[in-house]
Amino acid sequence: MKARRLLFLGPPGVGKGTQAQRLARELGIPTISTGDMLRAAVAAGSEIGKKAKGFMDRGELVPDEVVIGVAELRLADPDVAGGFILDGFPRTVVQAEALDRILRGLGRELECCIAMEVSETALVKRLLNRASLEGRSDDTEDTIQNRMRVYRAQTEPLVKYYRERGILRELDGLGSMDEVAERIRGALAA
Ligand code: ADP
Repeated sequence: MKARRLLFLGPPGVGKGTQAQRLARELGIPTISTGDMLRAAVAAGSEIGKKAKGFMDRGELVPDEVVIGVAELRLADPDVAGGFILDGFPRTVVQAEALDRILRGLGRELECCIAMEVSETALVKRLLNRASLEGRSDDTEDTIQNRMRVYRAQTEPLVKYYRERGILRELDGLGSMDEVAERIRGALAA
């Protein structure tokens, strides 16, 4: 049977958000993007938003306990029972361990981690391009470099974490949206 509890992993700008949404539509399951949820919290001016804003503007990770709380609440929603695609969570080993615990508590487990990678120069180019299109406040050149460093130091170790678990599928994120989507389909069928 096809995996329905999935996680997308990859550096900022790799295109995982777009691909996660596309696959989620095909599978009829929701995406869970902690980045989107945190931006909504900032926009709403909630307590969580107030805690997160400074970290996000600097391109730093929001503290684990804040993000874990956000993810835990969302994972308990009824629409997630039939499957989900996580995008941007977990981002640290502490978060990955918390995710395992949360899912175990719900009697579920992660079935597949899709790890996307492209060269650093292509990533920065894409992010600067997105900055001019969407005007996200954390898409400035300095913040982008910082998010990239943070990814390599704190999130990339998760590639090994899920490889050792035997659920990792690695693929090249360079190419058109359709090409990459096709690679993801192939990886899921393998
Ligand atoms: P990108 O993948 O392009 O960096 P996201 O929308 O996933 O963008 O995240 C934007 C920002 O939100 C991050 O730089 C970070 O500050 C915060 N954030 C999102 N998810 C997490 C997480 N799981 N842990 C810590 N911070 C997070």
